[in-house]
Amino acid sequence: MNGPANPDPTRHPRWCDRNGCTARGEHRSAPRGADTNRPEAAIVELALTQSLHPAAQPMVSLTGIGGGAAVTLTLSVGQATAARYKLAVLIDEARTDNRHRWS
Ligand SMILES: [Zn+2]
Repeated sequence: MNGPANPDPTRHPRWCDRNGCTARGEHRSAPRGADTNRPEAAIVELALTQSLHPAAQPMVSLTGIGGGAAVTLTLSVGQATAARYKLAVLIDEARTDNRHRWS
């Protein structure tokens, strides 16, 4: 698949919220909170980002806010995909362990 030689950097990806991209230098989706409806030690927000550079790829931004500090990790889609599977395994292990303990 070949794109145009000079794609318009202001052309927004479908997932972009189209808000302040030029000033920020990147496209960004609306943040999605990982809410549990319970008190947690940190707030976690996920979003897609992509530099305005014509060859830029979408990235997954994971922001953790807690203890008066915020940390943002920017993962490639490949890293996020690997992390998704590792999270699923870890969550399954935690649930299995709790079933053994409490049943
Ligand atoms: Zn945009």
